Amino acid sequence: MKVAVIGGGAGGFFSAINIRMHHPQAQIFLFEKTTKLLSKVAVSGGGRCNVTHDCHAPSALSKFYPRGSKFLKSLFYEFNPTQMWAWLEDRGVHLKIESDGRIFPATDSSQTIIDCFLKEAHKNKVQIQTQTEIISIAPQEKGFLLELKNNPKKIHFDKVIVAVGGQTKVENFNFLSNLGLLIEPPVPSLFTFNMPKNPITELMGVSTQASVRIKETKLHEKGALLITHWGMSGPAILRLSAWGARELAEKKYQFDAEVAWIDSKEDALREQINTLKSQKGASLIANTNFTELPKRLWNFLLAKAGIAENQKWADAKKQEIHALVNVLLYDNYVVNGKTTFKEEFVTCGGVSLSEINAETMASKRYPDLYFTGEVLDIDGITGGFNFQAAWTTAWIASQLR
Ligand SMILES: Cc1cc2nc3c(=O)[nH]c(=O)nc-3n(C[C@H](O)[C@H](O)[C@H](O)COP(=O)(O)OP(=O)(O)OC[C@H]3O[C@@H](n4cnc5c(N)ncnc54)[C@H](O)[C@@H]3O)c2cc1C
Repeated sequence: MKVAVIGGGAGGFFSAINIRMHHPQAQIFLFEKTTKLLSKVAVSGGGRCNVTHDCHAPSALSKFYPRGSKFLKSLFYEFNPTQMWAWLEDRGVHLKIESDGRIFPATDSSQTIIDCFLKEAHKNKVQIQTQTEIISIAPQEKGFLLELKNNPKKIHFDKVIVAVGGQTKVENFNFLSNLGLLIEPPVPSLFTFNMPKNPITELMGVSTQASVRIKETKLHEKGALLITHWGMSGPAILRLSAWGARELAEKKYQFDAEVAWIDSKEDALREQINTLKSQKGASLIANTNFTELPKRLWNFLLAKAGIAENQKWADAKKQEIHALVNVLLYDNYVVNGKTTFKEEFVTCGGVSLSEINAETMASKRYPDLYFTGEVLDIDGITGGFNFQAAWTTAWIASQLR
């Protein structure tokens, strides 16, 4: 049996190196269009490769995927971070879990993963061809003819695994849509919010816990928020961008974000402020930061509420208290544009999961054509979930069932 794997990234490599254990006689070819293998693995996790996440129960794990959650849940019963951990440890790669659940190689270097995969590819006799772009897949009575760019000769394969990764333009999927496969149009996921000229950007570098809600949508997230020189970033914002990838693209990245800087109900906050007014009347408001907000942010919010630096609690007027409550709980920011997060950008969209048999990762139309990784309409939030989706789908595809 002759098998072609298209794409030398995470999904392509992990499927290619696992084929042999299921099909000892297979001839395995891997085609990569660029000169570099595993290039995203190399830069992933800031060069450390956040290989997976310390979350093993299929239903809990599947909740980290804005697209593909239900589809992946059944796959995770077969291959989840437990199996990935064991697979790597069996091959001498030791892993470590960080306090937030992210899993990295103990060496803190993505090169460890790359070295392991290259060694496995060699051991399993995967024939790798770089600078080889596949430009069409023509189904035959049995198998497929693959067309290579700048090469008139077409090559026949019995089975093909497509692992070309996420694509930013829908035209890049033409070689798949030409086969009649349904493609969900790609849009970016995992981006930060631009707030051009908003004075809050002067606080760049300040980070705090907050709740953010996108107005006129159901999107809301709680977590760390980082103020940047162009707007807002941090896990809460990135998660919002992932869950809202399609909705926010439709809004052309122009929307209002409402920030609750403290975790409190309005009544409780008013009561807390009234107590301060009666008990600490002589103190300056600026010096009585009763929240856990960093001082610079507290001062910024007071100024936004129109409260002067020398204002005492006792002298605070009703409108000032009202403005303070509003700014702490319902602070509005106009978002205009996005910035793609350099650390871990993925695309929402790709081959529709309605086309794929979840038991085999094969196309329902072409049972010998398999898919793995980000080419599918699957994406996760940050934390190692995108690689885990690639490992899981690749493991199942590699069995060529
Ligand atoms: C900077 C960065 C950091 C990241 N860090 C993390 C992280 O730490 N943890 C995590 O879980 N996720 C991370 N991600 C996401 C993760 O890298 C991807 O989800 C994952 O690489 C997807 O694997 P893939 O094999 O599907 O696609 P890719 O890794 O993109 O590989 C696809 C390969 O196919 C090749 N190709 C495309 N078309 C053709 C063709 N026609 N013929 C031949 N070859 C072709 C491409 O050149 C590419 O090498 C990061 C992403 C980025 C951009």
